[in-house]
Amino acid sequence: SIPLSFFGGIGAASRRGILVKGGNYLEGLNEVNTFVFDKTGTLTKGVFKVTKIKAYNGFDEETLLKCGAYGEIFSNHPIAQSIIKEYKGEIDKELIKNYQELPGLGVKVKVELNDLLIGNSKLMDNEKIIYEKYSGMGTVVYVSVDNIFAGYIVVSDEIKEDAKEAISSLKSSGISKVVMLTGDNKHNAEAVGKELNIDEVYAELLPENKVEILEKIKNKMQNGKVAFVGDGINDAPVLAASDIGFAMGALGSDAAIEAADVVLMADELSKISTAIKLGKNTRKIVI
Ligand code: ADP
Ligand code: MG
Repeated sequence: SIPLSFFGGIGAASRRGILVKGGNYLEGLNEVNTFVFDKTGTLTKGVFKVTKIKAYNGFDEETLLKCGAYGEIFSNHPIAQSIIKEYKGEIDKELIKNYQELPGLGVKVKVELNDLLIGNSKLMDNEKIIYEKYSGMGTVVYVSVDNIFAGYIVVSDEIKEDAKEAISSLKSSGISKVVMLTGDNKHNAEAVGKELNIDEVYAELLPENKVEILEKIKNKMQNGKVAFVGDGINDAPVLAASDIGFAMGALGSDAAIEAADVVLMADELSKISTAIKLGKNTRKIVI
């Protein structure tokens, strides 16, 4: 027979918008001592706005933005969406001959006769572009046209209003370490980490590096479990590698929801602490 607490726990959780894929995950939350978070879309809103445009090498800002918008038109990435939104002109998709999305780096595309590269410093370095580094606030997107640096577009995201409170309540419920993983640049990642009192920040990661870091954290631990919280398509492998994976369901990709053990139906980080409390109650009833 199925213990009553099984229904109590999962039922109580689902009434609070927390879908748990099996009673053992709710109980397993009792053993979690490390929480690992993805940054963009999980701790931050994941909605970017263009905050600065700077052109180089004879390009002007309008042309730079136009290149950005053409290059990003086929990308669903929130950074791409912000650049497309900022560009007010028409986009003739027929001109786009070749399009490659490079996870954790940016995009590579041929527009008519021009080869465009749009993405982070790692992409510029990989392609041996000589460029001017930006190191202010926000996420910088570099643009090159036919291997000539055309300038950068800075996009900015905001920390979710409830993120700080959610992290501090995790810590007061006995979670000993909170970690953040991101593909974003170090400068921006560290600013977010500091604001939220995150213990360890790992930046400039490719999707596969996120899995490697999670495995490392798991291997270093003597006991206890590691939970991961994410929302994006690229997060599915890390969700699968963690002991307990949380997907933020409201904005979450299908792949993330599929790979997760716990799905938060609303975009509310406070539900993580709610789930931990329900896990504790579930155990009490069993004993
Ligand atoms: P996160 O780990 O913050 O969720 P991603 O893995 O989605 O971020 O992306 C990591 C980094 O790769 C971004 O911060 C950005 O620099 C770059 N990037 C990824 N996709 C794009 C894109 N379509 N356009 C420009 N830059 C991109
Ligand atoms: Mg993400």
